[in-house]
Amino acid sequence: MHEQLKQQFTERIVALQQRIDSIHQDFADGRHADWSEQAGERENDEVLNALESEAKVEIQQLSNAIMRINNGYYGYCQTCGEEIAERRLEVQPAAIKCIKCAD
Ligand SMILES: [Zn+2]
Repeated sequence: MHEQLKQQFTERIVALQQRIDSIHQDFADGRHADWSEQAGERENDEVLNALESEAKVEIQQLSNAIMRINNGYYGYCQTCGEEIAERRLEVQPAAIKCIKCAD
């Protein structure tokens, strides 16, 4: 039933993984770049770091969602076990918590 969703999540994970790889590539390139100021370089690294951890968090969420599709818990809150509102899943298909338990 959720096979299509699983496919979608898997593709997203692959895309995010590629993004992380290209961030690492940017880091490698940055070492050779001619930065006028050290501070500028550090700032850039921070941005890349933030992007990478963001992507990693999303991969984690997507893997969780795939796991929950596999064990039949998809659509139910991980914390309270109640059904997650359909409208919430439409906006955030990888949501594993209901709106009350999120955040
Ligand atoms: Zn809940």
